[in-house]
Amino acid sequence: MKMVLLGPPGAGKGTQAKSISNRYSIPHISTGDIFRGNISQNTPLGIEAKMYMDKGQLVPDKVTINMVKDRLQQEDCKKGYLLDGFPRTVSQAESLHKFLHLREESLDTALLIEVPRDFIRERMTGRRVCPSCGASYHMKFNPALDGKCELCGSDVVQRKDDAEETVKERLDVYERQTQPLIDFYKNKDLLSVVDGTKAINEVFEGICSILGSHKN
Ligand code: ADP
Ligand code: ADP
Ligand code: ZN
Repeated sequence: MKMVLLGPPGAGKGTQAKSISNRYSIPHISTGDIFRGNISQNTPLGIEAKMYMDKGQLVPDKVTINMVKDRLQQEDCKKGYLLDGFPRTVSQAESLHKFLHLREESLDTALLIEVPRDFIRERMTGRRVCPSCGASYHMKFNPALDGKCELCGSDVVQRKDDAEETVKERLDVYERQTQPLIDFYKNKDLLSVVDGTKAINEVFEGICSILGSHKN
């Protein structure tokens, strides 16, 4: 199965991606996690990406698209994959579409986790993340016991770009640059939508009933 996850920052993409990736045995590819990994290793890519991420803006398309194409050509992607946080612009979506088309492949679905803007602030300010494996927690909705990641034991931290001023910019960027992808995938008859305002496990059940019929 090949799929992309759409939804505003804080919708629960990363949270659901971990469960989907487990259930369907496909790699979870998060562009945000790849950038953060590069930042912590201080690579040239990380140094460039950080300038944009700290401001809540998107990393330029060219850099991002090349990075994803490289990733999708790795061996583990042969059986399918789950893209989280990519595409985020129409140009990224078109590049992905061309990439797949050239290989005579196609996406199975673009799944939108729909969450209204009013929910986002609380989700983002309470978010804590694992710097090692990227798992997401929430102070109120999904606490990390003793502040440790339950998957790998690292201490969870707050993301710098989850500060209130940056969140506002990220939501504006989402509405301007990413929201148009909803129509892009609707027009290709690939869009499916799940209500992301429910509890984490209920959202996952909703996703499984949408994906249920898909085979690898
Ligand atoms: P995204 O990857 O879309 O930015 P995350 O998966 O990191 O979103 O979720 C954002 C925050 O909201 C995290 O703190 C996460 O624990 C929490 N969260 C995710 N899904 C839900 C949900 N259905 N209900 C309440 N909180 C949630
Ligand atoms: P969230 O989970 O809140 O949606 P991400 O971890 O996906 O956030 O992304 C964090 C930041 O990384 C974005 O604000 C942006 O600066 C950068 N980024 C991630 N994916 C992309 C992308 N596909 N194109 C451009 N920038 C991206
Ligand atoms: Zn972890």
